[in-house]
Amino acid sequence: MKSQNFTEALLSWYRLHGRHDLPWQKDPTPYRVWVSEIMLQQTQVSTVIDYYQRFMSQFLSVKSLSEAELDQVLGLWSGLGYYARARNLHRCAQIIFTQYHGEFPNNVDQLSELPGIGRSTAGAILSFSMGVRAPILDGNVKRVLTRYHAIEGSPSESAVNKRLWDLAECYTPNKNFSEYNQAMMDLGATICTRRNPTCQQCPVMSDCRAFNESRAHEFPYSKKSKRLRPKKTTHLLMIKTSSDEFLFVKRPPMGIWGGLWSFPECPMGEDIKTWCVQHLHLDISNIEHWPAFNHTFTHFDLTIQPVLLTISAQNNYRMMESSDKIWYKVSEPLPGGIAAPVSQLLTKLKGVYDRSHDLLSKITETS
Ligand code: SF4
Repeated sequence: MKSQNFTEALLSWYRLHGRHDLPWQKDPTPYRVWVSEIMLQQTQVSTVIDYYQRFMSQFLSVKSLSEAELDQVLGLWSGLGYYARARNLHRCAQIIFTQYHGEFPNNVDQLSELPGIGRSTAGAILSFSMGVRAPILDGNVKRVLTRYHAIEGSPSESAVNKRLWDLAECYTPNKNFSEYNQAMMDLGATICTRRNPTCQQCPVMSDCRAFNESRAHEFPYSKKSKRLRPKKTTHLLMIKTSSDEFLFVKRPPMGIWGGLWSFPECPMGEDIKTWCVQHLHLDISNIEHWPAFNHTFTHFDLTIQPVLLTISAQNNYRMMESSDKIWYKVSEPLPGGIAAPVSQLLTKLKGVYDRSHDLLSKITETS
C-alpha cells in the first residue's frame, strides 16, 4: 500500500468509526488540548474524562492554572498517577504565562523545550488546536506502525525511533492532518490494541505485514532488559493521636510522590519507636503491623509495610504542625494530592472507623 493509500484508508475509517465527541475535541484551544494530552500520557481515555472535566472546571485558562497552588493541582490529579506530569503542567503554565504572554508557541522546537512536552505532544497541540501540520508518535501510533511494517527492535532504540518518526512524517497528509492524527490514536486505542487486536475491523489489514505473517502479538518489541526490576521495601507510619488525627507530611518536591501528602516513611531496618523519637519527637505507646502490599513504579517495585502507631498521651503533638506537617482527620477533605497507596490506606482506615462507630452506636442504643 502506498503511503497515500494508507493515509486515505485511515481517514475514511476515522470518519465512520473514530471518536468525535471527546471533551477536549470541543473548542480545541491549545490550553485544552495540552491538558488532555498530558493526562492521556500512560492513561486511558475512559479514566481521563472525569479528571479532565474536573480540572478544566477548576482551571479555565493557562492564567488560572499558573496562579494556582501546586497542592490544588496535585489534589485534582490524585489517583491519576505519574505525578511529575502534574508538577510539569503547573510549571509549564507559569512559563507560558510569564515568558510567552499566555500564548502557546506555534512550533515544535519551542513547544518541546517546555516542561513535560515532547515532540509527539507538541505535534498533537499544533495539529489539533493551531492548524499546523505536525506528525505525532505516541504509544498507539508506534504500535500501529511497528505492526504494519513488522519493525523489529524496540521503539526505545534510537534507530527504530528514527524510522518510526520518518514513517509518521511520511504518512501525515498536508490537509486533514488533525483528523489523520486522531485516526491513528483511535485505531491504536480501539482496534490495534496491545492485546488481541481486532484486525478484521482494521482499515489497513490487507497490507499489514504483522497481520499477514500472524505476528501482531510480537510487536512492538519490548525494551531489552538484562537486569531484573529493582525491589524496595519501606514502612509507612500511620501515626494517630487519641482523637484519631493522623500525621501527614508533605514529601519533598522531587523524587517519588514529589509534593504529595503522605504518611511518614520510615526506612527498613530502623527501630520504629526510636525513629519516631529521633525524627518526629513523638513517643509511641502502641504498634500494630498491617499486611504488606505492593506498588509498581516505572523503574522499581515497592513493597509497603503499613504500621498503625498510637502516640502517648503526654506528647505535645500540636507543636509540630507546620507548612509540611499536619494532623489530619480521615473524615476531612484532603489537604492536597496524595499517592494511590496512601489513598488505599485511608480507605481502610475509614472502614475501621466506620465499623467502630457503628459498634459504639449499637452499644449506646442497647445500654
Ligand atoms: Fe494492527 Fe491488525 Fe491493523 Fe495490523 S491489521 S495494523 S496488527 S489491527
